[in-house]
Amino acid sequence: MRANVASYDVVAPETLAEALTLLADEPGVWTPMAGGTDLMVLFEAGKLPTGRYLSIHGLPELRGITVDDDAVTIGALTTYSEIRDHAVINADLPMLAQAARETGALAIQNRGTLGGNIANASPAADSPPALVAYGAELTLVSAAGTRTVPYRGFHTGYKQMDLRPGELIHSIRVPRRPASEGWVHFYRKVGTRAYQAISKVCFAACARLSDGGVAEVRVGFGSVAPTVLIASALEAALTGARLDDAGLEAAVAAAARHEVAAIDDIRSTARYRTQVSENLAVAFLHALRAGG
Ligand SMILES: Cc1cc2nc3c(=O)[nH]c(=O)nc-3n(C[C@H](O)[C@H](O)[C@H](O)COP(=O)(O)OP(=O)(O)OC[C@H]3O[C@@H](n4cnc5c(N)ncnc54)[C@H](O)[C@@H]3O)c2cc1C
Repeated sequence: MRANVASYDVVAPETLAEALTLLADEPGVWTPMAGGTDLMVLFEAGKLPTGRYLSIHGLPELRGITVDDDAVTIGALTTYSEIRDHAVINADLPMLAQAARETGALAIQNRGTLGGNIANASPAADSPPALVAYGAELTLVSAAGTRTVPYRGFHTGYKQMDLRPGELIHSIRVPRRPASEGWVHFYRKVGTRAYQAISKVCFAACARLSDGGVAEVRVGFGSVAPTVLIASALEAALTGARLDDAGLEAAVAAAARHEVAAIDDIRSTARYRTQVSENLAVAFLHALRAGG
């Protein structure tokens, strides 16, 4: 059922300072709105709480992608289309480009933002596993100042996160992982269709290979836990491992099976999700053995 438009108050400040002042002056009153692609689904269903909405979509301070020698910094309002088409992201952070390419379809990619995907905190979101695997950092901004937090650990439970009242996600800093330094990237979104599908399982892993072994590895899963899952057991099984170790495949499969906490829901079953998680972990190992 459609919601009553007159019950909503939307303001669109022109500067970040103005937006942060409003958030600070009336704590808990304003809900930020970026691209609106999550919020408008609730609105259309009549489930968006009435009240005051702060459109941040026009704030230039939260836009843009900057690149330095070590990292790519992505403004919270950056759209999937901008990420999908960015040359350095495609070269050094290809899982983020792939996640963007496989999010919704063109209309959502043109409007939806990376900051909105993080703050919406869906366990089925497709960029968070890649951000976990890349060891991203978030810069959060409020009238009190800015702080930087690791993305790993930002989500503390279902729809829970370390975002304080009055804070906005400002930007996401992602360390560059070039193939020339031995980094291997492996991203798979498993859904019903190639586009416009909510993930049944999402898997993102990034490892640095050195002398036939795994020097560093980080892995994130989506849709198999109440929030994006840091695959610590799988990371532990692989870190320092020799790729020719005959027991590695069984260890990787067992780690993945052990740590996912999948549930049955309308999109899939816990059994299917757990088996696919195990299969993807083993496929990642095969990709590492093939050199990426
Ligand atoms: C048809 C359709 C298909 C979709 N397909 C996918 C998909 O394949 N994969 C996927 O992951 N998602 C998908 N989505 C979900 C959605 O498009 C994404 O989560 C998108 O990134 C949300 O960004 P937004 O800017 O539109 O967020 P909004 O709807 O504007 O906001 C979402 C939430 O984040 C908060 N917020 C937004 N920006 C900030 C900020 N900078 N700081 C603090 N809080 C903030 C808002 O208050 C709100 O709670 C789909 C949605 C639709 C409608």
